[in-house]
Order: sequence, then structure tokens, then C-alpha cells
Amino acid sequence: MTITMPSFEVDDKGRVICKSHTQYESFTNPYHDYYQERYIEKQLTCKTCGHYLKDDCYFPKSEIDLIEEDRQRKRFACKLCGNKIDRPLTIIQKLFYADQYNIDLPLICCTCYENLRANRLMESNKWRANIFLYNALYAVYTFLSFILFFLIYQIQIYFFFIAILPILYLFIKSLKKRKRIIDGMKFYETYFLDNDEKSEKQQRNK
Ligand SMILES: [Zn+2]
Ligand SMILES: [Zn+2]
Repeated sequence: MTITMPSFEVDDKGRVICKSHTQYESFTNPYHDYYQERYIEKQLTCKTCGHYLKDDCYFPKSEIDLIEEDRQRKRFACKLCGNKIDRPLTIIQKLFYADQYNIDLPLICCTCYENLRANRLMESNKWRANIFLYNALYAVYTFLSFILFFLIYQIQIYFFFIAILPILYLFIKSLKKRKRIIDGMKFYETYFLDNDEKSEKQQRNK
């Protein structure tokens, strides 16, 4: 049995496509309408590939299943914002490059990819980070209102704790998401901006 090696390209929509995929021709057909595009998004996974079905790909079937399971469980996160990676082949490409060439490709979600291309990643992610800050502040506000409400109406402490659980959850979740975006912005500044832009930025900060 010969093993098929995957090889990757990124199309103009930022999608990673495997050139060894048995449906490669249909993925790269430029004359697709909206519905065909949506369909292709769903087909862009190793699981629709003949080499997966025959189990003669470089990535064994069992491994692809595990990777896909991990992806569903959000174990693969965007390096720039912490979001789940939607496209399976983005992850397969990363793992292949790490395996074969020892290259550590950062995983980037579709939203951040679009923003990178439009050159507005920082702007957009600052905005996204602020949304989560507002959510956290909203949780604090709701929490304080609840305390007031419970003090005024002398409701049992037991109900109080049940009522604040979702608020606490919103608070922690928002801050976590915000932190991941801020870490992502630091990562971007360290690895994506070239040295000129960095020194320019330092100049401005002085
Ligand atoms: Zn494959
Ligand atoms: Zn992202």
C-alpha cells in the first residue's frame, strides 16, 4: 500500500486545501455560487477524502478521528483570539508541518485571518476585547443589583447563591475570553509585525 502525502495550499478565501484530497478539483473550481460554497466549506475535511476512507493517507484514519474530536472539543484555539478553529484542514496542515519540517505554524481562525488580510487585526481585536470587558462589568452591575434586591426583600441566602451562579459564570468567562484576545495581540505584536513597524511603535510610545 502506498501512503499518500498531503500537500497544502491556501486559497484566496484563506481556506487551507489539501492538494491530495480526492475532491481537490471541486474545491478549486472558481465558478461556485453561494450554496455550492457553503457545501464546499462542509466538505473541506479529511473525512470526505478517498484517502481517509481507504486509510492510505499519511495521517491514519484513527488519528484524523482523534484530531477531529479534539477540534470539536475546542482543544485547538486561534492563537490570536482563542476561538475554536472551524476548518479541520487548518489543523491538519499545522500538524503536518510540525511533523515534517518542525515548523510551528500558528493556528488562526477565519475571523482573525480576514482581519489580518484587511490589515485591521489590532483594531478589531481591541474592539472584541472591549466587548468582553463590558460583559464583565455588566456582570458586576447585575451582582450589585442582586445584593441590593436580596437585602431589601430579605430573601433566603440559599436563593442568593443560586441566582449569582450564572452571573459569576458570565464574569469569569468574559474575563477569560478577554485575556485570550489580549494575549493574542501580544503574540501578534511579537511575531507578525516586522521590525520597522515595531520600532515605529516604540518611537510613538516614547
Ligand atoms: Zn489526508
Ligand atoms: Zn481568531
